[in-house]
Amino acid sequence: MGESWFRREFLTPRRLAFNVIFYGLHFFFFGYGWHSQATNTKLAALNALTWSVWTSRGAGLVLAFDGGLILIPMLRNVIRVVRPKVQWLFPADENIWFHRQVAYSMAFWSMVHTTAHYVNFFNVERTQVRKEIALDIHYTQAGGISGHFMLLIMVLMYGTAHSKIRQQCFEAFWYTHHLAFFFMIGIYSHATGCFVRDSTNPDYITTFPFYSTEHCLGYESWRFIIWPGILYFGERVYREIRARKATRLSKVLVHPSGAMELRIVKPSFKYVAGQWLFIQVPEISKFQWHPFTITSAPEDPYVSVHIRQVGDFTRALGDRLGAGPSVVAAMTQAAMKGAEKDEKTGMSRGDFVEIDSSNLSLPSVRIDGPYGAPAEDVFNVEVAVLIGAGIGVTPFASILKHIWYRQKRGNLGTLRRVEFFWVCRDAPSFGWFQSLLQEVEAAQADPNFLRINIYLTQKIGEDMLWNIAVNDAGAQYDPLTLLRTRTMFGRPDWMTIYGQMRQAVESGQYIAGSKSQLKTKVGTYFCGPSVLAKAIKEATVHHTNSNVEFSFAKEHF
Ligand SMILES: Cc1cc2nc3c(=O)[nH]c(=O)nc-3n(C[C@H](O)[C@H](O)[C@H](O)COP(=O)(O)OP(=O)(O)OC[C@H]3O[C@@H](n4cnc5c(N)ncnc54)[C@H](O)[C@@H]3O)c2cc1C
Repeated sequence: MGESWFRREFLTPRRLAFNVIFYGLHFFFFGYGWHSQATNTKLAALNALTWSVWTSRGAGLVLAFDGGLILIPMLRNVIRVVRPKVQWLFPADENIWFHRQVAYSMAFWSMVHTTAHYVNFFNVERTQVRKEIALDIHYTQAGGISGHFMLLIMVLMYGTAHSKIRQQCFEAFWYTHHLAFFFMIGIYSHATGCFVRDSTNPDYITTFPFYSTEHCLGYESWRFIIWPGILYFGERVYREIRARKATRLSKVLVHPSGAMELRIVKPSFKYVAGQWLFIQVPEISKFQWHPFTITSAPEDPYVSVHIRQVGDFTRALGDRLGAGPSVVAAMTQAAMKGAEKDEKTGMSRGDFVEIDSSNLSLPSVRIDGPYGAPAEDVFNVEVAVLIGAGIGVTPFASILKHIWYRQKRGNLGTLRRVEFFWVCRDAPSFGWFQSLLQEVEAAQADPNFLRINIYLTQKIGEDMLWNIAVNDAGAQYDPLTLLRTRTMFGRPDWMTIYGQMRQAVESGQYIAGSKSQLKTKVGTYFCGPSVLAKAIKEATVHHTNSNVEFSFAKEHF
């Protein structure tokens, strides 16, 4: 296991290239900072402190570099625009992963920088190269104060960014992460302390940057790294202005098992299938923005999202919209039985309830986005394999609808076939998109263009088994999903599925009229938990050969 982890993290071609460039740049900046300090004759007195001052300078330069880099992956709007152009070079969708790598690096180099400075300050006091004591440099001078301030912010931000904390109390992470604003002010102004100077006294001046650059020879790179900060700040202002444009919640539908569908009208909002947005409901929280995948197609006159009620915000929203636990329980009951119609409630599995907005005024909402997602690329491959697990099916609702609209217009790009997989734990969940899937399935002139594969992984009770058996006998439609395709039970075996797909492509039966000498591109787009992603990715890598190229892209909530 150890070896495969090492191979995956360090030796796969993309990772290897990343590691060489990323760590190479870090060591280069460290060496450069060290060298410029050690060879600067103006700083001869300070250089008497030897390796500790060279180390602090080298690590300081690396930290400045990281301080500029860390905000770049968070420029969501810039990424959305450049994403289609740069996707071949690096995975733009892994922006959060990259942000984390820079953060880990900052944690490491901060330790190096701080330790070296502590040694510097101790040695300044011991050797009296300047008439100062270490405590004063630490706590009364601008460099020491801003450094400690940044360390404190880092402890708070790193502590609350741990995945366990994010899962249990996202707000703790969310609000604490906004301390980054003050951290950035600290990083841009850290050199104000004038610790690195060629004179015994700091040479402060009254005009910006408040120290003389002739005698204060500390780092100047803030002049470069401030730009991502300015861009990020500009983005946040732009997002705020954009989010304030006229938006109206026009309809709320409640689907079995409690998924709420919000239909929002915002004429200024333009998006492509498979993207996601942030939503805010000021009545519930003035500060929280929650991400949800867009489930409508760009051709629809509204923007819709399907929201599962899982925590504080989504449950409060459910209550506010009249989709609280009692409504959901009544709907779920019918679905759990596996019957087409519940006699008591008169509801069938695919039914949804439209919240009557004449009794209940709908709250105002704001949306921010759209933001990119890998599933945007489905129209660039010949075969698209769309795999959603549980609520992870949401991006594919939009894509399937959009495919359907484009099919009607006869404009499918390079797309020749679509395999849609939905792996679901329980039967009520099928209700979410049943009507949509039925519509899309019924619209297929060529039954082979879109194949719907539904897997139910839940253990089936006797009650349900009986219903399935009774309803399935001789029926044209699957009793659980009401689709033509039969539901499969248990977990999909991805190795076999991809193996069969490759065989079919190679034999020329899969895509009518395909030329065997051309390599067929099969793109997999997955949204769901990481364990499943790993198994699917392994299957795509394993089955790629000179005839069929399987690619894999994932999105995770
Ligand atoms: C790109 C993306 C697309 C998503 N699409 C959908 C979707 O289509 N349908 C759907 O039901 N859910 C979706 N989610 C998940 C959804 O954002 C969370 O379920 C929701 O924010 C939970 O908030 P809560 O306060 O009710 O729950 P909590 O109990 O506070 O949190 C439940 C889980 O959601 C995470 N979470 C909470 N708040 C946020 C936030 N502001 N940003 C990111 N994660 C948060 C927490 O880490 C935790 O794991 C998506 C998430 C992401 C990142």
